[in-house]
Amino acid sequence: MSGKVALITGGGTGIGFDIARCMVEAGAQVVITGRREEPLKEAVALLGGQAHYVTNDVTDLGSLEGLVEQIETTVGPVDILVNNAGINLKKPALEVTDEEFARIVHTNLHAVFALTRACARRMVERRSGCLLMITSMAAYYGIDRVAAYGASKSAVEGMVRILASEFSGHGVRVNAIAPGFIETEMSRKAMGGDPDRRDRALRRTPMGHFGKPEDIGHAAVFLASDGARYITGASLPVDGGNSIGF
Ligand code: NDP
Repeated sequence: MSGKVALITGGGTGIGFDIARCMVEAGAQVVITGRREEPLKEAVALLGGQAHYVTNDVTDLGSLEGLVEQIETTVGPVDILVNNAGINLKKPALEVTDEEFARIVHTNLHAVFALTRACARRMVERRSGCLLMITSMAAYYGIDRVAAYGASKSAVEGMVRILASEFSGHGVRVNAIAPGFIETEMSRKAMGGDPDRRDRALRRTPMGHFGKPEDIGHAAVFLASDGARYITGASLPVDGGNSIGF
């Protein structure tokens, strides 16, 4: 991936950090974003000279054109966008307020579309680019107490197919990775203090253990590489078999 520039939202922690790490190892330059500067600084120090950060809140939709412009001017044309930033809300559906629902959908769907559009305009012009979405098992089957999260991730899965149809004639590929249960801060929050949920997740994972953030990183490198040049509109589960487990 040398010579390529990858923009990874939420790249300072968890899955996003390991996507950035795997892409750096594969030779790419990476730009990671997030709301908090401290984790981004620490991440860039660990990732080395091929990594850069910009503090940015993806829900500030009006900032996203400027973000892409800034990166393209200072680092180079964005060849790969990984829409990784996301938030979760675990709550019984009947207790979810409209404000809470809107907050999840704004981060996980509206912001993903707005940033994708900003990058895709330039990619279409250059007739080259790769867009990657990070979805969830909550877009594949009925996980209880994540109505807003599951709705947002299901919408992104749908968007992948639509955008792949629109952009394929312009040299731009669009795919999703659907992680299973991966050990990060987000999953610790969702599973912590809920051993029953943890056991259920493990029982239907044939490999019998949770995944590591780098498992998603390796898949992202593959999907973003020329080795995946004939793959578009796909959703790749990286889940230890969770989505097909009995
Ligand atoms: P983390 O909570 O560890 O990381 C989320 C990252 O997103 C953080 O770096 C956070 O940084 C950033 N982020 C959140 N909101 C915003 C925002 N408004 N603007 C910019 N950055 C933001 O979670 P994971 O690493 O577990 O999750 C990464 C992705 O993977 C998410 O999309 C999640 O839905 C998905 N996923 C995770 C699974 C798991 O088991 N862990 C399973 C399935 C999917 P900051 O707070 O500084 O903004």
